[in-house]
Amino acid sequence: MSKKIAILGGGESGIGTAILAKKNGYEIFLSDKGKIKNKYKEVLEHIEIDWEEEKHSEARIFDADVVMKSPGIPDSAPLIKQLREREIPLISEIEFASWFTETPVIGITGSNGKTTVTSLVQHVLKEANIDSGMGGNIGNSFAKMVAEEDHDWFVLEISSFQLDGIEKFRPHIAILTNITPDHLDRYEYKLENYIASKFRIAENQTEDDYFIYDADDSNITEWLKKNPVRSQKLPFSLERKIENGAYIENENMVVNINNTQFTMPTSELALQGKHNAKNAMAAATVSQLLRIRKQTIRESMSNFQGVEHRLEKVLKINNVQYINDSKATNVNATFYALESMDSETVWIVGGVDKGNVYDDLLPLVNEKVKAIVCLGVDNEKIKASFGNIVENMVETTSMVDAVEAAYKLAEKGDNVLLSPACASFDLFENYEDRGRQFKEAVRNL
Ligand code: ADP
Repeated sequence: MSKKIAILGGGESGIGTAILAKKNGYEIFLSDKGKIKNKYKEVLEHIEIDWEEEKHSEARIFDADVVMKSPGIPDSAPLIKQLREREIPLISEIEFASWFTETPVIGITGSNGKTTVTSLVQHVLKEANIDSGMGGNIGNSFAKMVAEEDHDWFVLEISSFQLDGIEKFRPHIAILTNITPDHLDRYEYKLENYIASKFRIAENQTEDDYFIYDADDSNITEWLKKNPVRSQKLPFSLERKIENGAYIENENMVVNINNTQFTMPTSELALQGKHNAKNAMAAATVSQLLRIRKQTIRESMSNFQGVEHRLEKVLKINNVQYINDSKATNVNATFYALESMDSETVWIVGGVDKGNVYDDLLPLVNEKVKAIVCLGVDNEKIKASFGNIVENMVETTSMVDAVEAAYKLAEKGDNVLLSPACASFDLFENYEDRGRQFKEAVRNL
């Protein structure tokens, strides 16, 4: 008798799971409480499986041997509670996909920098002619890749929600970029629950695997003291020399693994800023582990094009540099954006506040920001936090107005930085929409 899987959610990971389950002979029922996009419906019709939208037929779901839950569905959803009460195995897409592949995985998680590091690792592997498929949270379903593609490596961006549903998933190389409070609404507002979730990336690793992490991040190091991992630890640090791992010394990035050393001047790195030096160290550590030629690592680290909406240089107008960092949806990401500003900055900030505490930004804002353009429906907290230290502050409610205001405030040699530190859905569809509108408004200046 074939096994039954119920798939909750008809987005990228649900559809990917359906394709892989079909290939492996499962009896499948896919259910989405909302509407399923047309492009996904076409796939469901094509592979001929049972599906429904705008409801959950509980009896059919409870009949499954295993349930795949998409990452967007919170544990607090009534259906999920019922599944747990019935002790029906509940897994994520990456867990399911990992059952059907022996291909080694490089898994990247963390609060910030996941997409950047994932793209950078993929870029270096490509330049080194190593065949790898990139996917996961970055947009390409891992399960679909397992069903349809053949690679020597998988490079996966993995969110904490995807880690919440693993049992056996075991990346050969795991990267934990950093941990700062985010998504706490999904973790009972307890930071330790969120940290525990991130660390699950290493829970099935063995002595043959590797765990790369930020040694300057006390959330990570304190946790490790109490909860050691089995894999080989390769830390990276901006602050101190690391015997086995990566660090910065005399403006050089150094990666030291088992007495082989790779060095390269930080000035040659394509992505600038301290946070990107960390991202580069993480990716260079992977490259060293895979024994990629030093020349290739160096070249690919310096010719990487970056990722859209992450400190993306848009245009220089009248010698003012316009920078799109729309993906900065939390304070920590904006901290690093401001930190990397090399001249006076007109800062466009605001949106939907996720319980932001701006204290950490005050010294940087004091030092680098000459004017603030608020772009949000409710700017009260921003005004209260920075009103004392930045005199020049204007409020706007559209991207065109914000960019025009910034244009008037900026002088030769300045930067105009969109780094909102907030979510986007008060005025925009999502952060991509916000970033695109910014770029369009800049180009129309
Ligand atoms: P994620 O995929 O984890 O959301 P991204 O690579 O998309 O991370 O970057 C999100 C935001 O965080 C961007 O504004 C980016 O400039 C910033 N950022 C990138 N890497 C780091 C890092 N290592 N630490 C802090 N912020 C970072």
